[in-house]
Amino acid sequence: MDLSHTADEDRFRARARAWLRTHVPDPPLPSLETREGFAAHRAWEAELAAGRWSVVSWPERYGGRDADVFRWLAFEEEYYAAGAPGRVSQNGIHLLAPTLFDHGTEEQRARVLPPMATGETVWAQAWSEPESGSDLASLTSRAVRTDGGWLLSGQKTWSSRAAFADRAFGIFRSDPGADRPHLGLTYLMFDLRAPGVTVRPVGRLDGRPAFAEIFLDEVFVPDEDVIGEPGQGWRIAMSTTGNERGLMLRSPGRFLAAAGRLLRLWRATGEDRGVRDRVADAVIGARAYQLFTAGGAARCAAGGTIGAESSLNKLFWSRYDLALHETALDLLGPEGELDGDGEWGEGYVFSLAGPIYAGTDEIQRDIVAERLLGLPKGRR
Ligand SMILES: Cc1cc2nc3c(=O)[nH]c(=O)nc-3n(C[C@H](O)[C@H](O)[C@H](O)COP(=O)(O)OP(=O)(O)OC[C@H]3O[C@@H](n4cnc5c(N)ncnc54)[C@H](O)[C@@H]3O)c2cc1C
Repeated sequence: MDLSHTADEDRFRARARAWLRTHVPDPPLPSLETREGFAAHRAWEAELAAGRWSVVSWPERYGGRDADVFRWLAFEEEYYAAGAPGRVSQNGIHLLAPTLFDHGTEEQRARVLPPMATGETVWAQAWSEPESGSDLASLTSRAVRTDGGWLLSGQKTWSSRAAFADRAFGIFRSDPGADRPHLGLTYLMFDLRAPGVTVRPVGRLDGRPAFAEIFLDEVFVPDEDVIGEPGQGWRIAMSTTGNERGLMLRSPGRFLAAAGRLLRLWRATGEDRGVRDRVADAVIGARAYQLFTAGGAARCAAGGTIGAESSLNKLFWSRYDLALHETALDLLGPEGELDGDGEWGEGYVFSLAGPIYAGTDEIQRDIVAERLLGLPKGRR
């Protein structure tokens, strides 16, 4: 694996760093899980897009810079090192956009991607249902054929940022008589403010109201908002989950920056509180993840794919994030209890959910055992 940078990559990184230095908001924006913070983060997406830094890996015609995966990784390192805000558009950018690149029509890409890049349309992921999380294929929300489109009914839940988002994408049962639960599902986009949609916030541990459940009562969706062929929703959804677990959702830049902050905190507290080895583990872990990801990126650049290996990434970052935040709170000692709205307190609460969202860690272990290690299927 060749880890040397090209001159072009270095120039790209320097341009990103210079732009971020003059644009990153100071003081930081309020939490994007609140109405006020959501609006502020939407405005930040517009500012990023104006500088053409919101979707660097997309083609230029949709607002990107055609950056390859190495330049994207460099951008992410600069982004987090600069202390830039969390991305309110991440579901759209990391999940829906790759789905449209692979399975959408040119009309859909031209209509959906530019307003996604500017934050004008913020997307929510509407996959989970009250009885269908890990076993997503058992979902029961329906899409019923009607003139010129589909009528959606049912309930989706655990939808991040849905309380304030504009539109959502999800899979629906369009053929209840299909032979297997994975068949007869259709992938659709819908408007969260359409007649028949009710969005209700779900209380989180930190009390912030952006997380929501979505109730659908015969919500009309035109044919133009079906992604791929009707009935192929499972295949389409699975082809893009690797983005969520793998490279895109948690890039190494985020952990390199967090490990750097932890190191500074450790130096600043002046007390060891018995955590020196854990701080060292965090720094080494961030660097190891960076190298592991670079390996995956090199394979992708050579025409390979990430596939089941994205489950290894997910297992790593979910556990790592938790350990890093626990170490920071131990360093802060009793003060940590008062850091609820601070970066460590808020980050800790969020890291508790890491082993659950993007597919639980137990499910990822099954995937690693069966598909990477070739072990027999576990009893379900
Ligand atoms: C912060 C957060 C954000 C989220 N955002 C979204 C979102 O934006 N959109 C969305 O659609 N969903 C979202 N989710 C939902 C998330 O995808 C589900 O919570 C997750 O898939 C688990 O499903 P579940 O909660 O129904 O748990 P269950 O599937 O009921 O699982 C309960 C427990 O049983 C274990 N388990 C289940 N089946 C097996 C098995 N076969 N083998 C071993 N163990 C098993 C699980 O690992 C887990 O520990 C979010 C969740 C969280 C916590």
